Amino acid sequence: MEDDKLAPHIQEISRALGNKLSEKEIEDELRKCIEDYNLSIPMAKKTVVKRHGGDTGSFSAGFQRKLAELRPNEPNVDFVARVVTANEKAIEARGEKKTIWYGLLGDESTTLSYTAWDPQNLEFAKGDVISVKGAYTKEYRGRVEVHFGNRVTVRKEDPSTIGVSDVAQGPPKVVAIHQIQEGMGYVETKGRLLSVDEREVNVQGEAKTIYSGTIADETGKIQYTAWSDFKLKPGELIKISRATVKSWRGIPQLNFDERADVIRVKEKFPSADELRKTSITPIAEVASRGGAADVSVRGTIIEVRDGSGLIMRCPECKRALQKSMCKIHGRVEGFPDLRIKAVIDDGSGSVSAIIGRELTERLMDFTLEECMEKARQSMSFESIKDSMDDALTFKIIDATGNITADTYGLSMITKEAELKVPDTMGDIERLLVELEESR
Ligand SMILES: [Zn+2]
Repeated sequence: MEDDKLAPHIQEISRALGNKLSEKEIEDELRKCIEDYNLSIPMAKKTVVKRHGGDTGSFSAGFQRKLAELRPNEPNVDFVARVVTANEKAIEARGEKKTIWYGLLGDESTTLSYTAWDPQNLEFAKGDVISVKGAYTKEYRGRVEVHFGNRVTVRKEDPSTIGVSDVAQGPPKVVAIHQIQEGMGYVETKGRLLSVDEREVNVQGEAKTIYSGTIADETGKIQYTAWSDFKLKPGELIKISRATVKSWRGIPQLNFDERADVIRVKEKFPSADELRKTSITPIAEVASRGGAADVSVRGTIIEVRDGSGLIMRCPECKRALQKSMCKIHGRVEGFPDLRIKAVIDDGSGSVSAIIGRELTERLMDFTLEECMEKARQSMSFESIKDSMDDALTFKIIDATGNITADTYGLSMITKEAELKVPDTMGDIERLLVELEESR
């Protein structure tokens, strides 16, 4: 990426951080986010500012962005784009007849639909390159749409700024499933459908059937939503072109509708069963994606955190009690539960894994009842946490679940977990047995 492209962003970050970092330091971090973690510029900027405790509230307005970087429901966006199509439509809004314009805008990153609600104040036509200030965005079927309201200003630019051939055309960016993230514009990906669920939703007052589920390749899994009926069936291997990506709680999801191409592919590809056994993902990669659904990590348990062990929960709200007190319901008669909060580190990063009762019983090879008995005998809950420390710290674990990111880092709601016997230990044991036998 050229320096002059980053310069305004670096200055903006510098202002947001109150000159806490030098421009060189900001540039290094920004480049790392963009080049190593493949983040979009706005995401990278936010990441850098957040990491150093700055306020990102004033961000996202006031600088030009690529169309693929626009998110749904942004109140104020600026960009330069080529008007790919411009159509007129007569509508009736609140009993008033008026003419609106709609069509497609494009730049190198993607194309988006637009609607101009008061076009009589605007001057542009198909083929113009326009710089736009003060537009807003909405979402339709998981895709970003640009709206020109009454605060927008549009200025014509030199048409060679974005030539006809510069506008992103399908086929879009071809990506493996683990690479999919917000801000990519149109993507093309291939995977096997692990599930297809049908449900009714209400879209702008109309009942509509949508199809959603999980699609996977060897690199990972992702949730998808199909807004048209492509007659998808579980187990099918498909290639989707012109899908878009939207995050939900920090986890990227794939969206496509009749504007997308869905092709059945016949080729050698892992079976659904093989794909369901998730492959291990580096924690740094999950962090750079801002979280992931149904992902597996392998690392060392570096800490069994406080709050692990035998705990009492409020019967009303299930919150963990502190000295028989619930934060909301005061002093209550709690019921017992077991959990582990383990920090798993794989060298690339760490995740805090919350492990519930059933899994805890399996990992620790004791039951809640046995723990209760042990606690009664020792008159203390502490011994349970101590035994977890002994049994788990510095063990290697495979853990699978949904990972979300917030300001405290990554946390996993753990669905599946298994302790690994390190290979070297196995090797040593085998060696000892062989020595015994050879004697
Ligand atoms: Zn409570």
